[in-house]
Amino acid sequence: MPAMKVSELGEFGLIDLLAKTVDEAKDNENPAWRQLIIGIGDDAAAWQRDSSVELATTDSFIQDIHFTLGIVAWEELGWKAMAANLSDIAAMGGVPEYALISLAMPGHTEAEDIAGLYRGMLELMRPFGVAIAGGNISSAPMLMINITVIGRATGPNSRLLTRSAARPGDKIAVTGFLGGAAAGMEMFKRNLPFDPIVTSSLRKATFHPCPRVTEGQMLVKHGVTAAIDISDGLIADLGHICEASRVGSRIAIDSIPILPEVRTSFGDRALELALSGGEDYELLFTARMDIINEVKKAISCPLTVIGEITTGKSGQISLVDGQGRPFSLDKMGWDHFTGMAS
Ligand SMILES: [Mg+2]
Repeated sequence: MPAMKVSELGEFGLIDLLAKTVDEAKDNENPAWRQLIIGIGDDAAAWQRDSSVELATTDSFIQDIHFTLGIVAWEELGWKAMAANLSDIAAMGGVPEYALISLAMPGHTEAEDIAGLYRGMLELMRPFGVAIAGGNISSAPMLMINITVIGRATGPNSRLLTRSAARPGDKIAVTGFLGGAAAGMEMFKRNLPFDPIVTSSLRKATFHPCPRVTEGQMLVKHGVTAAIDISDGLIADLGHICEASRVGSRIAIDSIPILPEVRTSFGDRALELALSGGEDYELLFTARMDIINEVKKAISCPLTVIGEITTGKSGQISLVDGQGRPFSLDKMGWDHFTGMAS
């Protein structure tokens, strides 16, 4: 390929390039390659063990790219970085078990702040029974947090939720409410003066997201096969499902479960924040309506049907308003390198 900067290629173009490079080196004589069930391109990787399927995911949080010290408390930062990883295991319907934590930081960092970072992680991990198994410490010009979480598939058949299993006719559903994390981030960056209830709700959405680990396992149990967690934004993440499954989709914008505090504080912009703001860490999945109804009875969080999978062009998402008319939004999702619509 011609010389190209990663900023020109974009995050997803770079992932495709690396996936291709790795695929060319694939050695099926080797048991590790042969037992790999899901490699690059889903929420977590999966491989076959003797009697189970193991899962692994990893995520980086870099100072001034993913967070700003001074806005976020150390405990909140630890919670959120761990939430992003547990959410990827949730999106596979798996059980998270062990975490490895690699930190890099300047020498002038307060030791007690790093202990606070760990306390935030541990607080989130405790109810899910996840253990910290180790990590690494290095010096760096800014704080970098890299977490790897290892887990396993649930149930006797070790079934998984993947991005590639959506089928035309499936309904599209989402857990919880959307837009809160993006609205909260904007509130902090622009110093927006909202009332204390809205401020605390948006702060919680931004820095204390609850990964849907239990819900992901319930999806598998009830026969759902296709899911992703909302980290890049609803439209971008639905795009990932549609591309991986080679299907199209239609979303009814009036049905999007926008966090009420986002509506009250951002008015007309609430829909855009819910569609393209990321980091809500809700689960987006597709299934037949009868399966969704069963899931609805089994889980305790809100569940909303927002559209359906179609036979449309692979990766295409059409938005329709309350009257069924086409609706368009300019900004769709976020690309880590170009910072442009992707
Ligand atoms: Mg994910």
